[in-house]
Amino acid sequence: MIREGEFSPPSPFVCGLKGSCPRCGRGKLFAGFFTLATRCGNCGLDFGFADSGDGPAVFVSLIGGFLVLGAALWTELLYEPPFWVHLVIFLPLTLIVCLGLLRPLKGLLIALQYRNKAEQGRLKD
Ligand SMILES: [Zn+2]
Repeated sequence: MIREGEFSPPSPFVCGLKGSCPRCGRGKLFAGFFTLATRCGNCGLDFGFADSGDGPAVFVSLIGGFLVLGAALWTELLYEPPFWVHLVIFLPLTLIVCLGLLRPLKGLLIALQYRNKAEQGRLKD
């Protein structure tokens, strides 16, 4: 079994955005599109600690909303298209941007959680 400290720590940004293990940077973090694997297939790190909560959804809402709404406003001001053009362009674009950002941001937050040893607060006995 590989222990802590046997790896030079990979960048949490690279690991998170690639969806790889935050300890070794080689194993896969995800078993499905959003589902986490139970452990790393390369180093055996148990991903039970990982709890990104609502963090990825918040960042996706802020970043995706800024991009899509900005593009919609820019399009409206420049071209003044009919409403159905906005629906045809920006509804699918919203889905693509949000789904495209969610997995990398979830991986990034889990990698940062691992790197910073973030966990629930506990009372001492
Ligand atoms: Zn690993």
